Amino acid sequence: MTRKVLISGASIAGPALAYWLHRAGFAVTVVEKADSLRDGGYPIDIRGTAIEVVRRMGILPRLRAAHLDTRRSTFLDADGSELVSVTPSAVTGSVDDLEVRRGDLAAALYAIVRDDVEFLFGDSIDTLDQTGQGVDIAFHSGHRRTFDLVIGADGMHSRTRESVFGPEQQFHRYLGYAFAIFTMPNTFGLSHELLMWNTPGRAAALYAVGDDDELHAFLNFHQPEAPIRGPEALRDLVAKAFADAGWEVPAMVDALRDADDLFVDTAGQIRMPRWSSGRVALVGDAAYAPSFLTGQGSSLALVGAYVLAHALATQQDHGAAFAAYERGLRGFVDANQALVDSGAATLFPTTVPALERRNAMLRDLVTLPPPPPRPAHSALTLP
Ligand SMILES: Cc1cc2nc3c(=O)[nH]c(=O)nc-3n(C[C@H](O)[C@H](O)[C@H](O)COP(=O)(O)OP(=O)(O)OC[C@H]3O[C@@H](n4cnc5c(N)ncnc54)[C@H](O)[C@@H]3O)c2cc1C
Repeated sequence: MTRKVLISGASIAGPALAYWLHRAGFAVTVVEKADSLRDGGYPIDIRGTAIEVVRRMGILPRLRAAHLDTRRSTFLDADGSELVSVTPSAVTGSVDDLEVRRGDLAAALYAIVRDDVEFLFGDSIDTLDQTGQGVDIAFHSGHRRTFDLVIGADGMHSRTRESVFGPEQQFHRYLGYAFAIFTMPNTFGLSHELLMWNTPGRAAALYAVGDDDELHAFLNFHQPEAPIRGPEALRDLVAKAFADAGWEVPAMVDALRDADDLFVDTAGQIRMPRWSSGRVALVGDAAYAPSFLTGQGSSLALVGAYVLAHALATQQDHGAAFAAYERGLRGFVDANQALVDSGAATLFPTTVPALERRNAMLRDLVTLPPPPPRPAHSALTLP
Protein backbone atom coordinates (compact mmCIF):
# COMPACT_ATOMS: atom_id res chain seq x y z
CA MET A 1 0.00 0.00 0.00
CA THR A 2 1.27 3.50 -0.81
CA ARG A 3 2.52 5.20 2.32
CA LYS A 4 1.22 8.71 2.91
CA VAL A 5 3.59 11.32 4.27
CA LEU A 6 2.83 14.85 5.41
CA ILE A 7 5.74 17.30 5.40
CA SER A 8 5.34 20.59 7.27
CA GLY A 9 7.37 23.41 5.65
CA ALA A 10 8.12 24.24 2.00
CA SER A 11 11.50 25.97 2.04
CA ILE A 12 14.65 23.87 1.51
CA ALA A 13 14.38 20.64 3.53
CA GLY A 14 10.65 20.14 2.83
CA PRO A 15 10.64 20.18 -0.99
CA ALA A 16 13.97 18.28 -1.13
CA LEU A 17 12.50 15.51 1.01
CA ALA A 18 9.27 15.56 -1.02
CA TYR A 19 11.27 15.03 -4.20
CA TRP A 20 13.09 11.94 -2.94
CA LEU A 21 10.06 10.43 -1.20
CA HIS A 22 7.92 10.82 -4.32
CA ARG A 23 10.63 9.07 -6.33
CA ALA A 24 10.59 6.24 -3.81
CA GLY A 25 6.82 5.75 -4.29
CA PHE A 26 5.37 7.65 -1.33
CA ALA A 27 2.25 9.82 -1.64
CA VAL A 28 3.50 13.19 -0.41
CA THR A 29 1.62 16.23 0.89
CA VAL A 30 3.46 19.42 1.88
CA VAL A 31 1.76 22.01 4.11
CA GLU A 32 3.27 25.52 4.22
CA LYS A 33 1.95 28.29 6.39
CA ALA A 34 2.90 31.04 3.93
CA ASP A 35 0.38 31.70 1.15
CA SER A 36 2.87 30.88 -1.58
CA LEU A 37 6.48 29.83 -1.99
CA ARG A 38 8.59 32.44 -0.25
CA ASP A 39 11.01 33.98 -2.72
CA GLY A 40 13.81 36.47 -2.32
CA GLY A 41 15.92 36.26 0.74
CA TYR A 42 19.56 36.42 1.59
CA PRO A 43 22.26 34.48 -0.24
CA ILE A 44 23.00 30.96 0.98
CA ASP A 45 25.80 28.50 0.24
CA ILE A 46 25.67 24.94 -1.05
CA ARG A 47 28.88 23.06 -0.44
CA GLY A 48 30.59 19.67 -0.33
CA THR A 49 28.21 16.72 0.04
CA ALA A 50 25.19 18.96 -0.63
CA ILE A 51 26.52 19.68 -4.13
CA GLU A 52 26.33 15.96 -4.84
CA VAL A 53 22.71 15.95 -3.59
CA VAL A 54 21.62 18.74 -5.96
CA ARG A 55 23.54 17.04 -8.79
CA ARG A 56 21.57 13.84 -8.17
CA MET A 57 18.36 15.90 -8.21
CA GLY A 58 19.25 17.25 -11.65
CA ILE A 59 19.23 20.91 -10.57
CA LEU A 60 22.98 21.54 -10.47
CA PRO A 61 23.02 23.27 -13.91
CA ARG A 62 20.13 25.56 -12.87
CA LEU A 63 21.89 26.42 -9.61
CA ARG A 64 25.21 27.02 -11.36
CA ALA A 65 23.37 29.46 -13.62
CA ALA A 66 21.95 31.18 -10.50
CA HIS A 67 25.39 31.31 -8.80
CA LEU A 68 26.00 34.78 -7.48
CA ASP A 69 29.59 35.22 -8.52
CA THR A 70 30.57 37.56 -5.72
CA ARG A 71 33.89 39.07 -6.75
CA ARG A 72 35.24 40.50 -3.56
CA SER A 73 34.71 40.97 0.14
CA THR A 74 36.15 44.18 1.57
CA PHE A 75 36.70 44.56 5.29
CA LEU A 76 36.56 48.00 6.88
CA ASP A 77 37.68 49.42 10.18
CA ALA A 78 35.68 51.56 12.63
CA ASP A 79 35.83 54.74 10.51
CA GLY A 80 35.10 52.89 7.26
CA SER A 81 38.68 52.77 5.88
CA GLU A 82 39.55 49.68 3.90
CA LEU A 83 41.60 47.07 5.77
CA VAL A 84 41.77 44.34 3.18
CA SER A 85 39.87 43.04 0.13
CA VAL A 86 39.74 39.30 -0.63
CA THR A 87 38.02 36.93 -3.05
CA PRO A 88 35.38 34.58 -1.54
CA SER A 89 37.35 31.46 -2.48
CA ALA A 90 40.37 32.85 -0.62
CA VAL A 91 38.24 32.67 2.54
CA THR A 92 36.52 29.30 2.02
CA GLY A 93 39.33 27.60 0.12
CA SER A 94 36.90 26.17 -2.42
CA VAL A 95 36.03 27.29 -5.94
CA ASP A 96 33.25 24.67 -6.28
CA ASP A 97 30.94 26.17 -3.65
CA LEU A 98 27.67 27.53 -4.91
CA GLU A 99 26.16 30.71 -3.56
CA VAL A 100 22.59 31.42 -4.64
CA ARG A 101 19.64 33.47 -3.40
CA ARG A 102 17.68 31.42 -0.87
CA GLY A 103 14.58 32.00 -3.01
CA ASP A 104 16.32 30.64 -6.14
CA LEU A 105 17.18 27.41 -4.35
CA ALA A 106 13.62 27.06 -2.99
CA ALA A 107 12.20 27.73 -6.49
CA ALA A 108 14.53 25.18 -8.12
CA LEU A 109 13.42 22.55 -5.60
CA TYR A 110 9.74 23.44 -5.95
CA ALA A 111 9.92 23.27 -9.77
CA ILE A 112 10.91 19.60 -9.71
CA VAL A 113 8.16 18.50 -7.31
CA ARG A 114 5.19 20.80 -7.88
CA ASP A 115 3.49 18.48 -10.42
CA ASP A 116 3.99 15.31 -8.41
CA VAL A 117 3.33 16.39 -4.85
CA GLU A 118 0.29 17.95 -3.18
CA PHE A 119 1.05 21.43 -1.77
CA LEU A 120 -1.24 23.06 0.78
CA PHE A 121 -0.19 26.71 1.00
CA GLY A 122 -1.63 29.06 3.61
CA ASP A 123 -2.31 26.24 6.06
CA SER A 124 -0.55 24.53 8.97
CA ILE A 125 -0.91 21.71 11.46
CA ASP A 126 -3.06 22.64 14.46
CA THR A 127 -2.97 19.31 16.27
CA LEU A 128 -1.18 16.08 15.65
CA ASP A 129 -2.26 12.79 17.29
CA GLN A 130 -0.28 9.62 16.90
CA THR A 131 -2.28 6.39 16.97
CA GLY A 132 -1.12 2.83 16.35
CA GLN A 133 -2.14 3.14 12.69
CA GLY A 134 -1.07 6.64 11.75
CA VAL A 135 -1.00 10.31 12.63
CA ASP A 136 -4.32 12.18 12.78
CA ILE A 137 -3.91 15.77 11.70
CA ALA A 138 -6.24 18.68 12.29
CA PHE A 139 -5.24 21.49 9.95
CA HIS A 140 -5.68 25.13 10.83
CA SER A 141 -8.12 25.40 7.90
CA GLY A 142 -10.39 22.92 9.68
CA HIS A 143 -9.65 19.90 7.47
CA ARG A 144 -8.78 16.60 9.12
CA ARG A 145 -6.68 13.87 7.54
CA THR A 146 -4.63 10.86 8.57
CA PHE A 147 -1.07 10.15 7.37
CA ASP A 148 1.31 7.26 7.95
CA LEU A 149 4.18 9.59 8.78
CA VAL A 150 4.67 13.30 9.52
CA ILE A 151 7.96 15.12 8.98
CA GLY A 152 8.65 18.55 10.43
CA ALA A 153 10.68 20.66 7.98
CA ASP A 154 9.39 23.87 9.52
CA GLY A 155 12.66 25.52 10.44
CA MET A 156 14.57 26.67 13.50
CA HIS A 157 11.44 27.54 15.50
CA SER A 158 9.58 24.39 14.43
CA ARG A 159 6.01 23.98 15.65
CA THR A 160 6.20 20.26 14.86
CA ARG A 161 9.17 19.96 17.23
CA GLU A 162 7.36 21.86 19.93
CA SER A 163 4.21 19.77 19.73
CA VAL A 164 6.05 16.41 19.75
CA PHE A 165 9.24 17.06 21.75
CA GLY A 166 8.33 20.08 23.89
CA PRO A 167 9.58 23.67 24.19
CA GLU A 168 12.44 24.88 21.97
CA GLN A 169 14.42 26.19 24.93
CA GLN A 170 15.70 22.74 25.93
CA PHE A 171 17.23 22.19 22.44
CA HIS A 172 18.43 25.71 21.71
CA ARG A 173 22.11 26.51 22.14
CA TYR A 174 22.60 30.26 22.21
CA LEU A 175 25.79 31.35 20.41
CA GLY A 176 26.22 34.86 21.76
CA TYR A 177 24.97 37.09 18.93
CA ALA A 178 21.76 38.85 17.93
CA PHE A 179 21.32 39.94 14.32
CA ALA A 180 19.02 41.65 11.86
CA ILE A 181 18.86 41.28 8.08
CA PHE A 182 16.81 43.44 5.76
CA THR A 183 17.07 45.03 2.34
CA MET A 184 17.79 48.67 1.61
CA PRO A 185 18.33 50.67 -1.60
CA ASN A 186 21.70 50.24 -3.29
CA THR A 187 22.58 53.92 -3.22
CA PHE A 188 26.27 53.05 -2.90
CA GLY A 189 26.74 51.72 -6.45
CA LEU A 190 27.94 48.38 -5.13
CA SER A 191 27.95 45.38 -7.45
CA HIS A 192 28.88 41.70 -6.89
CA GLU A 193 30.55 42.49 -3.58
CA LEU A 194 30.35 42.45 0.18
CA LEU A 195 31.46 45.25 2.50
CA MET A 196 31.94 44.32 6.14
CA TRP A 197 32.55 46.87 8.89
CA ASN A 198 33.70 45.65 12.32
CA THR A 199 34.43 46.93 15.77
CA PRO A 200 34.87 44.48 18.67
CA GLY A 201 31.53 42.71 19.13
CA ARG A 202 29.81 44.47 16.23
CA ALA A 203 29.58 43.77 12.51
CA ALA A 204 27.67 45.63 9.83
CA ALA A 205 27.63 44.29 6.30
CA LEU A 206 26.25 45.46 2.97
CA TYR A 207 25.96 42.74 0.38
CA ALA A 208 25.35 43.62 -3.26
CA VAL A 209 24.11 40.48 -4.92
CA GLY A 210 24.82 40.85 -8.63
CA ASP A 211 23.84 44.27 -9.95
CA ASP A 212 20.61 44.48 -7.95
CA ASP A 213 19.28 47.87 -6.99
CA GLU A 214 18.76 46.55 -3.47
CA LEU A 215 21.38 45.56 -0.92
CA HIS A 216 21.17 42.92 1.78
CA ALA A 217 22.01 44.70 5.00
CA PHE A 218 23.19 42.73 8.01
CA LEU A 219 23.78 43.95 11.56
CA ASN A 220 25.19 41.48 14.07
CA PHE A 221 26.35 42.15 17.60
CA HIS A 222 27.74 40.20 20.50
CA GLN A 223 25.47 39.83 23.50
CA PRO A 224 26.78 37.42 26.14
CA GLU A 225 23.36 36.68 27.66
CA ALA A 226 20.53 35.52 25.41
CA PRO A 227 18.25 38.56 24.93
CA ILE A 228 14.49 38.43 25.17
CA ARG A 229 12.94 37.17 21.97
CA GLY A 230 10.24 38.89 20.00
CA PRO A 231 10.90 40.83 16.80
CA GLU A 232 10.27 44.32 18.12
CA ALA A 233 12.36 43.94 21.27
CA LEU A 234 15.20 42.43 19.22
CA ARG A 235 15.01 45.15 16.56
CA ASP A 236 15.27 47.85 19.23
CA LEU A 237 18.17 46.04 20.84
CA VAL A 238 20.04 45.87 17.53
CA ALA A 239 19.34 49.56 16.82
CA LYS A 240 20.64 50.49 20.27
CA ALA A 241 23.79 48.41 19.90
CA PHE A 242 24.71 50.33 16.73
CA ALA A 243 23.54 53.78 17.86
CA ASP A 244 27.00 55.41 18.01
CA ALA A 245 28.61 53.52 15.13
CA GLY A 246 30.52 55.10 12.24
CA TRP A 247 30.74 54.46 8.48
CA GLU A 248 27.29 53.96 6.84
CA VAL A 249 25.83 52.32 9.92
CA PRO A 250 23.49 55.22 10.85
CA ALA A 251 21.80 54.90 7.41
CA MET A 252 21.53 51.14 8.00
CA VAL A 253 19.89 51.68 11.39
CA ASP A 254 17.37 54.04 9.75
CA ALA A 255 16.65 51.43 7.08
CA LEU A 256 16.31 48.77 9.79
CA ARG A 257 13.51 50.77 11.39
CA ASP A 258 11.62 51.15 8.08
CA ALA A 259 12.28 47.70 6.59
CA ASP A 260 9.24 45.67 5.58
CA ASP A 261 11.25 42.46 5.15
CA LEU A 262 13.10 42.61 8.46
CA PHE A 263 14.38 39.30 9.85
CA VAL A 264 15.70 39.45 13.41
CA ASP A 265 16.83 36.56 15.56
CA THR A 266 19.59 35.36 17.82
CA ALA A 267 22.37 33.13 16.51
CA GLY A 268 21.79 29.66 17.83
CA GLN A 269 21.83 25.97 17.10
CA ILE A 270 19.27 23.23 17.61
CA ARG A 271 20.80 20.20 19.27
CA MET A 272 18.51 17.26 20.03
CA PRO A 273 19.30 13.82 21.41
CA ARG A 274 16.81 12.26 18.94
CA TRP A 275 15.21 13.50 15.73
CA SER A 276 12.15 11.25 15.76
CA SER A 277 9.40 10.08 18.05
CA GLY A 278 7.02 7.37 16.88
CA ARG A 279 5.74 8.29 13.42
CA VAL A 280 7.08 11.85 13.48
CA ALA A 281 10.60 12.96 12.51
CA LEU A 282 12.34 16.29 11.94
CA VAL A 283 14.64 17.37 9.10
CA GLY A 284 16.75 20.45 8.35
CA ASP A 285 16.84 23.43 10.71
CA ALA A 286 13.92 21.97 12.72
CA ALA A 287 16.18 19.11 13.86
CA TYR A 288 19.75 20.44 13.65
CA ALA A 289 19.99 24.13 12.72
CA PRO A 290 23.73 24.87 12.69
CA SER A 291 23.29 28.73 12.73
CA PHE A 292 24.27 31.21 10.04
CA LEU A 293 27.75 31.37 11.61
CA THR A 294 28.53 28.02 9.94
CA GLY A 295 26.94 28.91 6.58
CA GLN A 296 25.89 25.26 6.43
CA GLY A 297 22.13 25.37 7.14
CA SER A 298 20.97 24.78 3.58
CA SER A 299 23.59 22.11 2.96
CA LEU A 300 22.52 20.21 6.09
CA ALA A 301 18.86 20.55 5.05
CA LEU A 302 19.60 19.11 1.58
CA VAL A 303 21.81 16.28 2.82
CA GLY A 304 19.44 15.49 5.73
CA ALA A 305 16.46 15.24 3.36
CA TYR A 306 18.39 12.87 1.12
CA VAL A 307 19.54 10.60 3.96
CA LEU A 308 16.06 10.51 5.56
CA ALA A 309 14.35 9.68 2.25
CA HIS A 310 16.92 6.98 1.50
CA ALA A 311 16.32 5.40 4.92
CA LEU A 312 12.52 5.44 4.45
CA ALA A 313 12.82 4.07 0.91
CA THR A 314 14.97 1.16 1.96
CA GLN A 315 13.37 0.20 5.30
CA GLN A 316 9.69 -0.75 5.48
CA ASP A 317 9.53 -0.15 9.24
CA HIS A 318 9.53 3.57 10.00
CA GLY A 319 11.23 3.07 13.39
CA ALA A 320 14.13 1.27 11.72
CA ALA A 321 14.24 3.93 9.00
CA PHE A 322 14.37 6.82 11.48
CA ALA A 323 17.14 5.02 13.40
CA ALA A 324 19.10 4.55 10.16
CA TYR A 325 18.60 8.26 9.34
CA GLU A 326 20.12 9.24 12.69
CA ARG A 327 23.00 6.79 12.38
CA GLY A 328 23.77 7.95 8.86
CA LEU A 329 23.60 11.68 9.50
CA ARG A 330 24.58 12.35 13.13
CA GLY A 331 28.34 12.53 12.51
CA PHE A 332 27.89 14.93 9.59
CA VAL A 333 25.63 17.18 11.66
CA ASP A 334 28.03 17.14 14.62
CA ALA A 335 31.03 18.01 12.43
CA ASN A 336 29.18 20.95 10.87
CA GLN A 337 27.70 22.28 14.10
CA ALA A 338 31.21 22.11 15.59
CA LEU A 339 32.46 24.59 12.96
CA VAL A 340 31.42 27.41 15.27
CA ASP A 341 33.41 25.86 18.12
CA SER A 342 36.51 25.80 15.96
CA GLY A 343 36.48 29.39 14.84
CA ALA A 344 33.85 30.03 12.15
CA ALA A 345 32.74 32.92 14.35
CA THR A 346 36.16 34.52 13.77
CA LEU A 347 34.44 36.72 11.20
CA PHE A 348 32.72 38.36 14.18
CA PRO A 349 35.43 38.91 16.81
CA THR A 350 34.27 40.26 20.15
CA THR A 351 37.49 41.72 21.60
CA VAL A 352 40.25 44.06 20.36
CA PRO A 353 42.95 41.31 20.24
CA ALA A 354 40.56 38.89 18.48
CA LEU A 355 39.73 41.57 15.89
CA GLU A 356 43.45 42.23 15.34
CA ARG A 357 44.05 38.48 14.88
CA ARG A 358 41.22 38.27 12.38
CA ASN A 359 42.55 41.22 10.41
CA ALA A 360 46.03 39.68 10.34
CA MET A 361 44.51 36.42 9.10
CA LEU A 362 42.63 38.28 6.33
CA ARG A 363 45.82 40.05 5.23
CA ASP A 364 47.56 36.68 5.06
CA LEU A 365 44.82 35.42 2.75
CA VAL A 366 45.90 37.97 0.17
CA THR A 367 49.48 36.75 0.09
CA LEU A 368 49.31 33.06 1.07
CA PRO A 369 47.74 30.17 -0.87
CA PRO A 370 44.06 29.58 0.05
CA PRO A 371 43.30 27.33 3.03
CA PRO A 372 42.11 23.79 2.26
CA PRO A 373 38.30 23.42 2.07
CA ARG A 374 36.80 22.53 5.43
CA PRO A 375 36.53 18.74 5.71
CA ALA A 376 33.20 19.01 7.59
CA HIS A 377 31.50 20.12 4.38
CA SER A 378 32.24 16.83 2.66
CA ALA A 379 32.28 14.55 5.69
CA LEU A 380 29.60 12.20 4.38
CA THR A 381 29.57 9.77 1.47
CA LEU A 382 26.00 9.44 0.26
CA PRO A 383 24.42 5.99 -0.03
C1 LIG B 1 20.81 35.52 8.23
C2 LIG B 1 20.92 34.10 7.77
C3 LIG B 1 21.96 33.76 6.95
C4 LIG B 1 22.09 32.45 6.54
N1 LIG B 1 23.14 32.13 5.74
C5 LIG B 1 23.27 30.86 5.31
C6 LIG B 1 24.35 30.48 4.47
O1 LIG B 1 25.18 31.27 4.09
N2 LIG B 1 24.42 29.20 4.07
C7 LIG B 1 23.48 28.29 4.44
O2 LIG B 1 23.57 27.14 4.03
N3 LIG B 1 22.48 28.60 5.25
C8 LIG B 1 22.33 29.87 5.71
N4 LIG B 1 21.30 30.19 6.51
C9 LIG B 1 20.42 29.15 6.99
C10 LIG B 1 19.41 28.66 6.02
O3 LIG B 1 18.54 29.68 5.61
C11 LIG B 1 18.60 27.57 6.70
O4 LIG B 1 19.47 26.76 7.42
C12 LIG B 1 17.90 26.73 5.68
O5 LIG B 1 17.00 27.55 4.97
C13 LIG B 1 17.15 25.57 6.37
O6 LIG B 1 16.10 25.13 5.60
P1 LIG B 1 14.82 24.48 6.23
O7 LIG B 1 13.98 24.10 5.04
O8 LIG B 1 15.21 23.42 7.20
O9 LIG B 1 14.11 25.60 7.12
P2 LIG B 1 13.57 27.04 6.73
O10 LIG B 1 14.26 27.58 5.53
O11 LIG B 1 13.54 27.85 7.95
O12 LIG B 1 12.05 26.76 6.27
C14 LIG B 1 11.00 26.45 7.12
C15 LIG B 1 9.70 26.55 6.33
O13 LIG B 1 8.64 26.13 7.16
C16 LIG B 1 7.59 27.06 7.11
N5 LIG B 1 6.88 26.98 8.37
C17 LIG B 1 7.27 27.45 9.59
N6 LIG B 1 6.36 27.13 10.52
C18 LIG B 1 5.39 26.43 9.89
C19 LIG B 1 4.20 25.80 10.34
N7 LIG B 1 3.82 25.85 11.62
N8 LIG B 1 3.43 25.15 9.43
C20 LIG B 1 3.79 25.10 8.11
N9 LIG B 1 4.91 25.68 7.65
C21 LIG B 1 5.70 26.33 8.52
C22 LIG B 1 8.27 28.39 6.87
O14 LIG B 1 7.39 29.35 6.32
C23 LIG B 1 9.37 27.98 5.92
O15 LIG B 1 8.93 27.99 4.57
C24 LIG B 1 21.16 31.48 6.96
C25 LIG B 1 20.09 31.84 7.79
C26 LIG B 1 19.96 33.13 8.19
C27 LIG B 1 18.81 33.48 9.08
